[in-house]
Amino acid sequence: MFVTAGVSGQRWARATPARSSHVSRTLPAVSGVRSVRMVAEPQLDKKQQRRRIMQGEKFNRRGFADTKEEAQGMMVEEFTSELLRQMREEAYILERDGITVYLAKAYGFCWGVERAIALAYEARRQYPTERIWITNEIIHNPNVNRRLQEMGVHFVPEARDADGRVHKDLSGIQPSDVVVLPAFGATLEEMTYLDALGCRIVDTTCPWVSKVWNTVDKHHRAQCTSVIHGKWNHEETVATASFAEKYVIVRDLGQAEYLCDYILHGGDKQTFLKTFRNAMSADFDPDRDLVKVGVANQTTMMKNETAAIGKMLEKTMMKKYGPAELSEHFVAFNTICDATQERQDAMLELVERELDVVLVVGGFNSSNTSHLVEIAEQRGLAVYHVDSAARILPDNVIEHRTVHGEVVQTRGWLPHNGTDGGTVRLGVTSGASTPDRHVEECLERVFLTHAVERARV
Ligand code: SF4
Repeated sequence: MFVTAGVSGQRWARATPARSSHVSRTLPAVSGVRSVRMVAEPQLDKKQQRRRIMQGEKFNRRGFADTKEEAQGMMVEEFTSELLRQMREEAYILERDGITVYLAKAYGFCWGVERAIALAYEARRQYPTERIWITNEIIHNPNVNRRLQEMGVHFVPEARDADGRVHKDLSGIQPSDVVVLPAFGATLEEMTYLDALGCRIVDTTCPWVSKVWNTVDKHHRAQCTSVIHGKWNHEETVATASFAEKYVIVRDLGQAEYLCDYILHGGDKQTFLKTFRNAMSADFDPDRDLVKVGVANQTTMMKNETAAIGKMLEKTMMKKYGPAELSEHFVAFNTICDATQERQDAMLELVERELDVVLVVGGFNSSNTSHLVEIAEQRGLAVYHVDSAARILPDNVIEHRTVHGEVVQTRGWLPHNGTDGGTVRLGVTSGASTPDRHVEECLERVFLTHAVERARV
């Protein structure tokens, strides 16, 4: 019996069932990872390959009943906040010593992130002596990732190919190891390699991310190209692209406009290929592959922008082919994650208030957090993005990430009084990978900073 596995565009089959016994370290490496023994057989498409791996006996995406309760207890202990619980009960407002804090009505951990951490904790307890790896950060939060390291979880290192491209170096993983796939998933190539290696896989991929993968599969079945709204080098988009057969990734409305203009009027093909050189499937030909398109997204992009890109493509196809032919050239499925949408909506509501300053807590590489910062910035508010309380320094100095991605220090960031001479009005929110405990720690430093500053005046 044979099952297939696709690696780097080739189709192979692996002899089953004794997986680990078939692992070979002598064949040449594929994309920087050790090769495994594979035998050619008829093609499965990418969805079938993923499904086959997920049905494997060593593949777990439901967690572990024996360690679930213990993991939940650890998470409550480490991540929850009594202060934020009180704020939720008191209309999301807290007044203390000259500061009024307004908390966004949706903030912090989304269920996909909570689920991912819970599964990783369960796995650690379930396999106390086995070596456990995670293929990437479990979520975009440095403290949570550090906590996993303290629990003995190893992070798969990165390496560079001969052409300078970064990839995951999976070569240290042994068949007896356990490998956790993070909330934003892993590529088909990585999954295929780990499956063929025969190690245990604990998959914490958020179901919303899997929904996007199903969407790009639907695009393939409808014989259309996936236009993915995302950042080509973001882990989630890298994974999504690996499950798409034909795709091009657009970063923002500007790139989408360029793409639509090319569809309508054509253009210089070499310029197109250069613009999207890291962001399209192999052998992509814009003259051939943009005749029928569908939209998918990185789940943490700005929902309004994804919606606008969808509308722009729909209008473009309508203009080019006429309303009667639209369904032959454009397909739409909603893949915007609820949690991202709710946090962005809550931020839009929060910035409607009269605020003196806004604090956003979340990982510096967290896409959904940086979009929350952008909302406050666009509103013209003084906004500071920190990834932990340690960034709030003595002497009213804050170290923060700007919307342009630089980490800078600002002195005197917290005013003594509000602009109306009364209390300081502080808006606060946090990204989907931020524990409530971290927000509480930040607020405690804010209160301390304010008390010290007022004492000086
Ligand atoms: S932000 Fe959405 S897609 Fe990402 S982990 Fe949370 S629920 Fe899942």
